[in-house]
Amino acid sequence: MSDEKKPLAGSTDAVHAGTNYDRPHRAIVREIAQTATYTWHETADLERFMSGEDSDTDRIEYGRYGNPTVRELEERLAALELVDDALAFSSGMAAITTTILTLTKQGDHIVLFRDCYRRTRQFVSTMLGKFGIEHTLVDSGDLDGLDKAIQKNTKLVISESPTNPYLDCLDLERFVEVVKSHGRIRTMIDATFATPVNCRPASYGIDLVVHSATKYLAGHNDVLGGLVAGPSHIISLVREHRDVMGGVLDPHAAFLIARGLKTLGVRVDRQNTNAMRIAEMLSQHKKVEKVFYPSLESHRSHAVAKKQMRGFGGVVSFVVAGGRQAATRAVDGCRIAKIASSLGGVETLIEQPAIMSYFELSPEELAAVGILPGLIRLSLGIEDTEDLVRDLSRALDEA
Ligand SMILES: *Cc1c(COP(=O)(O)O)cnc(C)c1O
Repeated sequence: MSDEKKPLAGSTDAVHAGTNYDRPHRAIVREIAQTATYTWHETADLERFMSGEDSDTDRIEYGRYGNPTVRELEERLAALELVDDALAFSSGMAAITTTILTLTKQGDHIVLFRDCYRRTRQFVSTMLGKFGIEHTLVDSGDLDGLDKAIQKNTKLVISESPTNPYLDCLDLERFVEVVKSHGRIRTMIDATFATPVNCRPASYGIDLVVHSATKYLAGHNDVLGGLVAGPSHIISLVREHRDVMGGVLDPHAAFLIARGLKTLGVRVDRQNTNAMRIAEMLSQHKKVEKVFYPSLESHRSHAVAKKQMRGFGGVVSFVVAGGRQAATRAVDGCRIAKIASSLGGVETLIEQPAIMSYFELSPEELAAVGILPGLIRLSLGIEDTEDLVRDLSRALDEA
């Protein structure tokens, strides 16, 4: 195993990679091609296109099959992830579900980790069963468990890194070794929390990288979107499914994500710094029982994260002494952080997973999925570090 860090995407890449400035008027920014369909001069044009004889390869028949604004975003993400191609969707979940449905059929088996994004787990464990697709859940980061869970009919292994809300980082090199030792099984990593600035899963041999672009890639809490990136031969299959299933990204949403992506490097750098400083403050604070952040030596993924990430990400989770009531007082006492689900945007957001994502679960069920009472998840924005530290520290003092 090499200790060498893989190269990561920087701000220069975020601004320019995958952009072809050779376009009408050489406009520096790609226009919003706000159109549902495309026209033809005459029937002969259309016939040439349909028979594949059109020399203009940019032609598109209809909005669900493509859009230049969306296409540029896809090309930029592929360049940032160092893969052949990418596809955009109307949400992260549209990207995830369409990709999973592309790669599996009746009788197949999927392995996924227990701490997967909740809706991904729900899709695989409840909805795919209707189509005769089986699954096995493996504990977070348990690669021996993964090795045992893989069956003859396993087609796909799904994980996240870092995970939500405990920020576990999967050892991608070992993960790929384990999966590939069983033959041709596809690997898919939801890298929403990492972004190509902190980790590029494809450089470890991961087949497919998915993102909720709603989070860091767009970065402004103003748009939903999703992306999947990988080798052309898989992406073209996913495209066939997207064209039919229809979870396509609107051109205006693509424009917003493309604009957000330009500042990904500087935003994530600041968010890494903010989260790290907050984690340090929290680990000294007397009202805090436990802090989950991979820069801390106490975190179970510290060694893996140090090896495979540039920064440790913009999310910090922690447990307030005194359970749910004390956590509620701390959350309500914050003046900068806003109470909201989601993460990765410029605004700092704070939430208690037991109340937000897992409200309907009983205390026993919460314990079973590992959601501790008094747990707070904080998604750092780009506000000034000292302001955030001071505000949260005061809210905790007063909690
Ligand atoms: C938000 C999120 C998703 C779902 O993305 P949407 O854009 O909300 O559909 C998937 N995975 C992770 C890790 C997320 O944080």
